[in-house]
Amino acid sequence: MTGANHVLPTGGLARAYSGLSVLDFLRWTTWQEILPEAAAGLAHDVAALADTEQLPGHAAAARGWASAPNEAEGTPARRGAAPLPLRRRAGYGTIPVYAPAPGGADLDLSDNTNLFGPAPSALDALRASAAESLSRYPEPWSDALRQSLARYAGVRPEEIVVGCGSDDLLDSAFRAFGEPGDTVAHCVPTFSMVPVFARANGLVPAAAPFTPDLELDTDALLAARASITYLASPNNPTGTIASPEAIARVFEGASGVVILDEAYAEFSGVTRGREAPQHGRLMIVRTLSKAFGLAGLRVGWAIGAAALIAEVEKARGPYKVSAPAERAARAAVEHDLDWMRERVAAVIASRDRLADALRGRGFAPLPSAANFLLVPVAEADAAAAALEPAGIAVRTFRGLAGIGDALRITAGPWPAMERLLVAFDRVPR
Ligand code: PMP
Repeated sequence: MTGANHVLPTGGLARAYSGLSVLDFLRWTTWQEILPEAAAGLAHDVAALADTEQLPGHAAAARGWASAPNEAEGTPARRGAAPLPLRRRAGYGTIPVYAPAPGGADLDLSDNTNLFGPAPSALDALRASAAESLSRYPEPWSDALRQSLARYAGVRPEEIVVGCGSDDLLDSAFRAFGEPGDTVAHCVPTFSMVPVFARANGLVPAAAPFTPDLELDTDALLAARASITYLASPNNPTGTIASPEAIARVFEGASGVVILDEAYAEFSGVTRGREAPQHGRLMIVRTLSKAFGLAGLRVGWAIGAAALIAEVEKARGPYKVSAPAERAARAAVEHDLDWMRERVAAVIASRDRLADALRGRGFAPLPSAANFLLVPVAEADAAAAALEPAGIAVRTFRGLAGIGDALRITAGPWPAMERLLVAFDRVPR
């Protein structure tokens, strides 16, 4: 019953074959990628071998390599200055490049930013930036900003890492905590960059659709036995929050690192940042792009146990927050908390009023705890096109799991929402 030499049951094979091990039951598959010129050079020998092995299909395929396209066109396969084909990482061929909503709209409600504008102290700090802050490198790990964020979050500075947007921290954490080939479990629909960052780091995304009442499917998430489990609460694009019980189940049941993305925490009023350092394998992701109105600065931050944060920093590398950005971000976190809270309250009031008005027009926006609404529509492109003549841009989603087509609309100052509502009369239900 114990030991590595024998694997049982083998259906009787163990009687005739000693020293059976797991390896006897594995099938190995390897492949090689070679340049077309190299294949052409090998074609003759490969074809001869294949003929000898009576594999005529293989032989014919190999002979095909001999006439690589550039030779068939009459140019030699090996030309001194011929450019080598671009070699990229396996899997990159199908990774999409991020495509934002088309810019230029007069009223852009597509990206969940703060439509009241940036935190004013950040702007003042940027204006007052000394020339030196451009000619010298910034502090490599943004220690001063970490101190300000630590005070804001109620944790220690070494339990915080900052990055070039929270994007940077998700990407770095995926690199730090997943071996190539490992799984990243995540809900779907969720932040669109999550499966992209996973694949860009050689990891395999495993999507778990929400339950019909838009709650985390904790069984499906845990069944993935992932190295990294990503949750977002409030979630983008649904705006919904995960229940404390579901989050607790994932925290307890996941074997690897759990990333809880709280990019919209200022709007939901719920954060687990303070408890993250005690958990050891939990990373909470935050950003200054949303409530603080500083998306253009590109400053994100994350909280976790100091040992976890140190690993994320290794993957992230130094100097990721520019000196002016660090200065402006610090000013906002030190001086603009009241400003931020007032704008957040105004956004929430606008959002709820907008949701009521949309319901009155026969739409059914999802319950949102963030600064945006997800509004199911019959056909997302047609709906967005109906808003375009009014100079309004929204984010379109087609065929979301369990939801169908939908528009994601940033909530902001009420006059802007009124303008949207007028245009919405042209949106087919
Ligand atoms: N997480 C979520 C859930 C988001 O919606 C976004 C931005 N849309 C981000 C992270 C990334 O934000 P940033 O890189 O600007 O911090």
